[in-house]
Amino acid sequence: MSFAGNGIGITRGIAIGDAHILQRGMLEISPRSIEQIEIPDEIERFRQAVCCARQRLQSIREKIPKNTRSDIVAFIDTHMLMLNDAALVEVPIDLIRQHAYAAEWALQLQKTSLVQVFDTMDDPYLRTRKDDVEHVVNRIQMALHEQDEEADHDLAGKVILAQDLTPADTIVMRHQGIAAFITEFGGPMSHTAILARSLGIPAVVGVHGITRIIQQGELLVVDGEQGIILADADDRTLHHYRRHIHSAADQATHRLRLIGQPATTKEGIRVALMANIELPEDIEATRALQADAVGLYRTEFLYMNRQGMPDEEEHYQTYKGVIEGLNGIPITIRTLDLGADKQVDGCTTASCNPALGLRAIRLCLKEPKMFQPQIRAILRAAIHGPVRIMIPMLSNLQEIRKLRAIITETKLALALEGIPFADNIPIGGMIEVPAAALSADAFSKELDFLSIGTNDLIQYTLAIDRVDDEVNYLYDPLHPAILRLIQMVINAGEKAGIPVSMCGEMAGDPRYIPLLIGMGLREFSMQPGSLLIAKECLLKLKSTKLTKQTRKLMKRLGEPRHEVLLQKICKLH
Ligand code: PEP
Ligand code: MG
Repeated sequence: MSFAGNGIGITRGIAIGDAHILQRGMLEISPRSIEQIEIPDEIERFRQAVCCARQRLQSIREKIPKNTRSDIVAFIDTHMLMLNDAALVEVPIDLIRQHAYAAEWALQLQKTSLVQVFDTMDDPYLRTRKDDVEHVVNRIQMALHEQDEEADHDLAGKVILAQDLTPADTIVMRHQGIAAFITEFGGPMSHTAILARSLGIPAVVGVHGITRIIQQGELLVVDGEQGIILADADDRTLHHYRRHIHSAADQATHRLRLIGQPATTKEGIRVALMANIELPEDIEATRALQADAVGLYRTEFLYMNRQGMPDEEEHYQTYKGVIEGLNGIPITIRTLDLGADKQVDGCTTASCNPALGLRAIRLCLKEPKMFQPQIRAILRAAIHGPVRIMIPMLSNLQEIRKLRAIITETKLALALEGIPFADNIPIGGMIEVPAAALSADAFSKELDFLSIGTNDLIQYTLAIDRVDDEVNYLYDPLHPAILRLIQMVINAGEKAGIPVSMCGEMAGDPRYIPLLIGMGLREFSMQPGSLLIAKECLLKLKSTKLTKQTRKLMKRLGEPRHEVLLQKICKLH
């Protein structure tokens, strides 16, 4: 079926490939039988899925904060008990054994018969218990489904369509070689979108209903920059997009000549171009592209696609590996920024508004058992190379002081235990909450460096959830409020004599680099794939002219002429 649709483009690339629709969260189970010979393996597969569902619940149960309402805890306990109940575990196994049903279908049949029993009950409370059956069965079905996905190796070259994808899904699918993805929900600054950019996966998000419109296997064109999706395109259109793909590859090859050339403006002012890293493969790219430093190492990766939390040794070995892999390139390690759109198995917070809840430094200060191993590991790993520590989501000075106290105590403990560690690690903070930007002068006195996290700063200042595509149209890095806050932070750092960088997505976008240079920013941190594009842009800029223009703009922000000035500055590159 010929179709052209629009969504939010989140990456620069274009891809062409066959559609593969993922139906997560609303699994459709149809009757399926297996061969007699497969029965023992199918029973084992079912047992594994039950076990996996149990482990997931157990891990959520362990992480529930102590002050959580008892009915929520009881709810999870009930589900744990049900996962041990013969009605849900043994009866489906009997069905597999006796009728050679596939595990999913056996479980579905048993669910239907249990739900029918609940439906006939007069007691309204007992009747609602059927919801528990549905929940628990769904957990097992999901585990069975994921086993299938893991076994599915033919996602290579496919365009994945899904309701939504987690960052963890994105990583797994990248390893399976997908060509692109399209989701019904999600915003351009979600962690999934950032990862897709970093991994160079063309993607379009916020295309409501797309999983119902497109057929499995249909040939799709995905333009990740313009947010365009085409199905069943004619030969001329396909030819046009294929040429585009080739010319983008040629341009990227041509940019490789910039490797090793210092990043300066036209007048020779040196600017630091740093990398945001997360996955092991980013280290290689950072070295190959000769980034000046790693300005942001997102450590949440360690928590993805696994059960349970990493211990100190795992943290240590990982950081040591990254530091050694960078071979002398300085690195800024950000302490855990879990919560909001960076949820991982077993660490979900019960908040109904997670972006404003127990996230990042707030969560770390509340959960010393989770945080301590990371701090110890960073201090230990820092003997292997130049390291800075960065705290995410600061909103007040107490958080800095508490963190400093934890670091001091940790050093003391390590010294007493005779474990080597680095003593003089600079401690900086992310400025990504408006309160922190407005108090950047005070923060600068207690921190060794600042880094502006525009992804969150824009979310919190403009009150728009960064993962909600419905409000994405309001996401505006050039909003006068944002520009004023950025300028305040740059000025505060300059006054205090400490470095200020930017590590939000705005820093790697050539549309904004001229303006940021004009504002006085000299340190930019971005996904490795943007480093050469940023350098190419930078080499053409005249910073003196930009500074003058930007000063004028900042004075006129909000006046009718400010748009014209803004366009002039952004056109200068
Ligand atoms: C930011 O908020 O700009 C940032 C860099 O952090 P993250 O995207 O990981 O929240
Ligand atoms: Mg952030």
